[in-house]
Amino acid sequence: MNVPLLDLKAQYRVIKPEVMSAIEAVCDEQGFVLGPRVVAFEEAAAQYIGSRYAIGCASGSDALLLSLMAMDVKAGDEVITIPFTFFATASVISRLGAKPVFVDIQPDTFNIDPALIERAITPRTKAIIPVHLFGQCADMAAINEIAKRKNIYVIEDACQAIGASQGNKRAGILGDTGCFSFFPSKNLGGFGDGGLITTNDKALADSMSMLRVHGSQVRYLHEAIGFNSRLDALQAAVLQVKLKYLDQWTEGRRRNAERYQQLFAQARVDGWVTVPPTVAGNFHVYNQYTVRVQKRDELRNFLKDNGVGSEVYYPLPMHLQQCYRDLGYQKGAFPISEKAADEVLSLPVYPELTEPQLRYVVEVIESFCKRG
Ligand SMILES: *Cc1c(COP(=O)(O)O)cnc(C)c1O
Repeated sequence: MNVPLLDLKAQYRVIKPEVMSAIEAVCDEQGFVLGPRVVAFEEAAAQYIGSRYAIGCASGSDALLLSLMAMDVKAGDEVITIPFTFFATASVISRLGAKPVFVDIQPDTFNIDPALIERAITPRTKAIIPVHLFGQCADMAAINEIAKRKNIYVIEDACQAIGASQGNKRAGILGDTGCFSFFPSKNLGGFGDGGLITTNDKALADSMSMLRVHGSQVRYLHEAIGFNSRLDALQAAVLQVKLKYLDQWTEGRRRNAERYQQLFAQARVDGWVTVPPTVAGNFHVYNQYTVRVQKRDELRNFLKDNGVGSEVYYPLPMHLQQCYRDLGYQKGAFPISEKAADEVLSLPVYPELTEPQLRYVVEVIESFCKRG
């Protein structure tokens, strides 16, 4: 049996007529950058997330960068985040000449450990970027409490967490800004790159809207040194169609995650596979279903030989990356992140997976464990 990590064609087959007519409409209009299609999508996204403002931009990475720029993060400043994340979370800090200061994660959720944040704060700390890794929100109550007391900003890296929530609030309104990515493999994926920033703060919203178009509100008059990070009308039109289906797809991911939980509990994989927990009050959207396993690389090859796709998100923490050797971190600096990097494996969890496919994935893992 073949079980790919992700099958975007299965999703496309269902929505093809609707998406194609939206694309055709944009082509007929010949308006491709920002414009009414982008505004309509921004409004729909703001309503979905529950934010006062939503600003489309070119990628999730740019959403993070625009947030930092609007908060005036610059050379000499420090921004706290986790080393166990996608590269962009850290690189945007460095691109502004500021310094990423890493804090280790919690072993169960893979999210930032709030108990470690306070000792990483210095007079130069401008912001914290918690990442809602794999689709589950970081402990925002604890993070916001520290940030308020220390008067620093909170930027949610919600690139993997559109539709996730904590308490009765969705990811994107749990901090000062929320950053989303529409990279095709995200839960809401475009037909190319795209991103969005949400906020309830008018000053930040105005600033980010201006920075994404070269720091200009009135054409050819520049009040800040912005850059070009706009959302295309074609992407907005596709995303607007897909947004209607997002909750239904999220339910599919959650159903599959729950089924894995049951199947792994019944399988003889004791001590080999640790399934991802959901913290009380969190609504997990499973952009990835990430387990911890022993002999991870061997298992990954075994899965591949048996037709099952999997991926390691992420194999090398940021503090050990070559480009960050100047930060001076040593191996052992963030033991929980380093251990996670050695043990995590993301399994197929996309909504269109079938019951036989889910069973097959668990059977293959069980037979690997039986071999010892
Ligand atoms: C995808 C992702 C990003 C970057 O998004 P792009 O749209 O690819 O630039 C940032 N952070 C995390 C955690 C992501 O998963």
